[in-house]
Amino acid sequence: MEDIRRKTVKEIFATGDKFVGEKVDVKGWVRTRRGNKNVQFVALNDGSTINNLQIVFDLTKFPEEVLKPITTGSSIHVQGTLVASQGAGQSVEVQAEDLEIYGTSPSDYPLQKKGHTLEFLREKAHLRPRTNTFGAVLRIRHALAYAIHKFFNDKGFVYFHTPLITASDCEGAGAQFQVTTLPLNELPKTEDGSVDYSQDFFGKLASLTVSGQLEGELGATALGLIYTFGPTFRAENSNTPRHLSEFWMIEPEMAFYEIADNMDLAEEFIKYCINYALEHCKDDIQFLNDHFDKELIDRLKFVVENDFVRLPYTEGIKILEESGKKFEFPVYWGVDLASEHERYLVEEHFKKPVILTDYPKEIKAFYMKLNDDGKTVRAMDVLFPKIGEIIGGSQREENYEKLTNRINELGLTGMDWYVDTRKYGTVPHSGFGLGFERLVLFVTGMQNIRDVIPFPRYPKACEY
Ligand code: ATP
Ligand code: MN
Repeated sequence: MEDIRRKTVKEIFATGDKFVGEKVDVKGWVRTRRGNKNVQFVALNDGSTINNLQIVFDLTKFPEEVLKPITTGSSIHVQGTLVASQGAGQSVEVQAEDLEIYGTSPSDYPLQKKGHTLEFLREKAHLRPRTNTFGAVLRIRHALAYAIHKFFNDKGFVYFHTPLITASDCEGAGAQFQVTTLPLNELPKTEDGSVDYSQDFFGKLASLTVSGQLEGELGATALGLIYTFGPTFRAENSNTPRHLSEFWMIEPEMAFYEIADNMDLAEEFIKYCINYALEHCKDDIQFLNDHFDKELIDRLKFVVENDFVRLPYTEGIKILEESGKKFEFPVYWGVDLASEHERYLVEEHFKKPVILTDYPKEIKAFYMKLNDDGKTVRAMDVLFPKIGEIIGGSQREENYEKLTNRINELGLTGMDWYVDTRKYGTVPHSGFGLGFERLVLFVTGMQNIRDVIPFPRYPKACEY
């Protein structure tokens, strides 16, 4: 092999014309090999793009016994001349001159043929990133993560790292996984028979976080604008296509933002992310549109081009009650909306994303700002087509008395550190949480949240 710099397949297609006639060096995995007695074509993919590079092997130079190990899934290194392609479907191809086989791929390779079901691929999650579908999803996932950091950075937000192990169990957002080094077979007990956590690693009960928000507020009431972007864990037995036990969450928290500012930011943010993906992931989104969801691109464009509807919860309930629709779960003022209700408002009534505000205080977290009616709080949930709730947020209660009253009403303890933000120099502030995988789900048009994260965790599933 000659000493030339390797090019990715993406680079070759982006700048192909410039290098026609030159010798190139490429490496990747073989998707298919086909051809006849005179010439063989290999479709090479290196993960940089959904597009395969065609490598042409002339059998006078590469006899069948040399090419035999090049089967689907094998990995190769090729040097050859980049030429304008004769065939349809690609602009350029490589006329092979030198071949090195890194690794063969025996015939039990699970991804032999196209068209495996997503369920089958979930069983082979260690190999599924090598499929077109998961390559596309994972590149889009990356682009969205980058867009999120860019959006907040450009606006002057500070990326604030909140802990994953926490001793605060007051978030109320979901059941927690416990973190312990105590011997589970012989737990130390106190005199009254309960577990003696003073002997545990942290000297108290500790858990994996369900949200970074409360700690995020500590950052916002010092730095002004912060966001978190990290994993969160929920031990709920939610076997739905929209819930994971381990998922990533983005939680911006803004000092001096009222609820309307919060909604403006949420809408701008989510449109920015979708636009970024439309612009930077064209081939991948087109592939998913063509193979899984013919309305995907139209839906994405529709969301970025239209204003979201802003509607108080009470009016949303009225619309649902007057819809005449038979819902599985009953609708009445005070109910926590189910996904079917949210999707009715978005998909059938308004046909647009909806930001629902001013929920009854009983169904929302203790830290949300109480409205003057004494019954509702300044919550805002962003509801999306196909997904339902994609963002949950609120203006936070900044009044020390009102907040401590609510904490006492609910019997929460150990919150002194949190209420200190209201005791010392309190300010109006707001924030929200976006479930990263719900965003990836929306942008890829996939149906199941387990298919938009490399290694999904859900009840009874913890592989790799
Ligand atoms: P849901 O009612 O859908 O369970 P939630 O009200 O529990 O959501 P929040 O606690 O407000 O959600 O969390 C903020 C965001 O995190 C949600 O809007 C959603 O996008 C995402 N989210 C919540 N739970 C999960 C989960 N188990 N898996 C993936 N994303 C989730
Ligand atoms: Mn939940």
